[in-house]
Amino acid sequence: MVKELGVAYYGFHYPDRAEEDFLEIIDHNCNAVLLAVSEYDYQIWYSNVVKIGKIAKDLGLNVYVNLWAFGKVFGGEAPSVFLQDNVNYRQVFNKEFPFPFVGACFNTEVFRNYFFDAVSKLVKEEVFDGFFWDEPHYIITGTREIYSCVCPSCRELFKEQYGYDMPEKANEDVFEFKEKSILDFLEQSSKLVKEVDSKKSVTVCLMPFFTKEEQGASWEKVCSIKELDVFGTDPYWSVAKKDINFVSKASEETVKLAKRYGKRSQLWIQGFLIPAGKEEEVREAGRIIGKSGVDSVFTWAYRACEGSLVQSDNPKKVWSIIKEVYAELKE
Ligand SMILES: [Zn+2]
Repeated sequence: MVKELGVAYYGFHYPDRAEEDFLEIIDHNCNAVLLAVSEYDYQIWYSNVVKIGKIAKDLGLNVYVNLWAFGKVFGGEAPSVFLQDNVNYRQVFNKEFPFPFVGACFNTEVFRNYFFDAVSKLVKEEVFDGFFWDEPHYIITGTREIYSCVCPSCRELFKEQYGYDMPEKANEDVFEFKEKSILDFLEQSSKLVKEVDSKKSVTVCLMPFFTKEEQGASWEKVCSIKELDVFGTDPYWSVAKKDINFVSKASEETVKLAKRYGKRSQLWIQGFLIPAGKEEEVREAGRIIGKSGVDSVFTWAYRACEGSLVQSDNPKKVWSIIKEVYAELKE
């Protein structure tokens, strides 16, 4: 039995319409919802985001906020208003590139303040039960020859800490520096939550099996952040072109690590980009995850992302399998 079952929910703007969706989410055996709040939602629709959170709360759902794809250093398809308005505060590669990179830098004061201000504002809203840091990561290049970020803020900080200029090729100091930068960013964000309301939870979801070198921070270091309550990952097997064992291994590791650091655990089921004929794998993944001893299970996303860029081939079928497998996990 899993204590918490939920889905991510995005593209919401009207409270009365959202209420109908929440009833459908509850009918799919969920007791939680993750509101994916993009920069556009946050900047343009703030008052309705809060109203919609309240509706979910009043219907009995646990309500979490995901600052979805903020600065594009958090996961998700949503565009970033910050990057549009601040081309100077993007991550910079060590080599010349013909185009600016689509990702903010964790070390620039302007992006830090932008993100922290959003957290500080949202945390004052009583309706939200917690915050979700979604796949925080540096740009993944897969090679030491090309790396980010070597912006003026990073160069200055690196020199201060290591006593020499950022190198031509990424080395161990660079990886350690990037890890420290992500950890500091997550710690600061988490402290902002806890300082205002210690009852609100902080969850982080890291991409599965990406090393410190690729993602920017190791699972263990992130999991040991003091203010963190829930540690999770999203083993999206089909996107990663892996078989279902990928889900078993990620589930096992996540639950084990979370227990070791006294945190609750969370696992995500892939409900998007499921190819035709592979829908039953969603049930299988749900069952594997359900048996792992995990505390919280979520699916990305509502209605299997029907109509979006990442919709499953047969979203209705996937959505009904989610309902069925959640019924099993709830028992
Ligand atoms: Zn930088």
